Amino acid sequence: MSRFSWLESRPQGLFVRPGDFFLDPLRPVPRAVISHAHTDHARPGHDEVIATPETCALLEARFGHGAFGRLRPLPLGARITLGEVRLWLAPAGHVLGSAQIVLEYQGTRVVWSGDFKRRPDPTCTAFAPVRCDLWITEATFGLPVFRHPPAEDEIAKLVRAQTDNPERAIVVGVYALGKCQRLIALLRAAGYDRPIYLHGALLPLCALYEQLGVRLGPCLPATVGERGQARRELAGAIVLAPPSALADRWIRRLPDPLIALASGWMRVKQRAKQRGVELPLVISDHADWDELLATCSEVAAEEVWITHGREEALSYALAQRGIAARSLALLGYEDESG
Ligand SMILES: [Zn+2]
Ligand SMILES: [Zn+2]
Repeated sequence: MSRFSWLESRPQGLFVRPGDFFLDPLRPVPRAVISHAHTDHARPGHDEVIATPETCALLEARFGHGAFGRLRPLPLGARITLGEVRLWLAPAGHVLGSAQIVLEYQGTRVVWSGDFKRRPDPTCTAFAPVRCDLWITEATFGLPVFRHPPAEDEIAKLVRAQTDNPERAIVVGVYALGKCQRLIALLRAAGYDRPIYLHGALLPLCALYEQLGVRLGPCLPATVGERGQARRELAGAIVLAPPSALADRWIRRLPDPLIALASGWMRVKQRAKQRGVELPLVISDHADWDELLATCSEVAAEEVWITHGREEALSYALAQRGIAARSLALLGYEDESG
């Protein structure tokens, strides 16, 4: 019998039996602990949700007030006991509010990574490794081809494109939660202080980030009227939009749009080409291959379970390092953020 048989893979998600709760469940359950507010990890309909205060605020904003029976905010590092399990949250560095879920039971410590990254991100608390016996990790970019360049270099490319194209709107596809605000913060850190224009779908979460204390500087709605006045204003401007809007009628109103997309997937040239991306920006909110391996060693777990992503390559690489790995194959965690 495995040391970890108190964790059960069920259709709803991973069930922590001695604590009677699920981790990032995919279907409604009585009690859920949620790592972060991306919709592949956070689903509506649970009776009770435990998450960081920021994630609770984001969940309410995304799903509405009545989507959960009760939201129970648990600050990073605060310990609670559920049944026989001690539970606390550690920062995951992925998006605002994102957390690793730490479980302690009968002298064994298990950490559920959620999605995580190791690079600095001015919009959220940095990832903190927690030593554990079992590390349950994502592997979105679990192939050696995925090595993310420094985000600063990608931002420099974006600013150069803006300077070189004063007649064009530079439109960057970004996911609404996390990538959008990180891109703005990275531009600000690079000294870009002009207004940044936002597609309407990005406005509510940016406002909420500001409310939660993340400074984004001057941002304006990218409203493009038929009369073309705003159109002139958007020539030479940086405009952020959800990736779906890049193929939408909306973009045709912008002056000669230069299309960029910020995602770890932009490492794959074919993907950029398929989506008509002129300026691929390899900016990811996930660990890359080297960081996945380094983190597995750093947490010093004797066993690693992989929830989603490219588990074969990572399992193999871990086995070579003497770490037992297996795929948990929880279907349904699709990368939302790249
Ligand atoms: Zn995520
Ligand atoms: Zn995910």
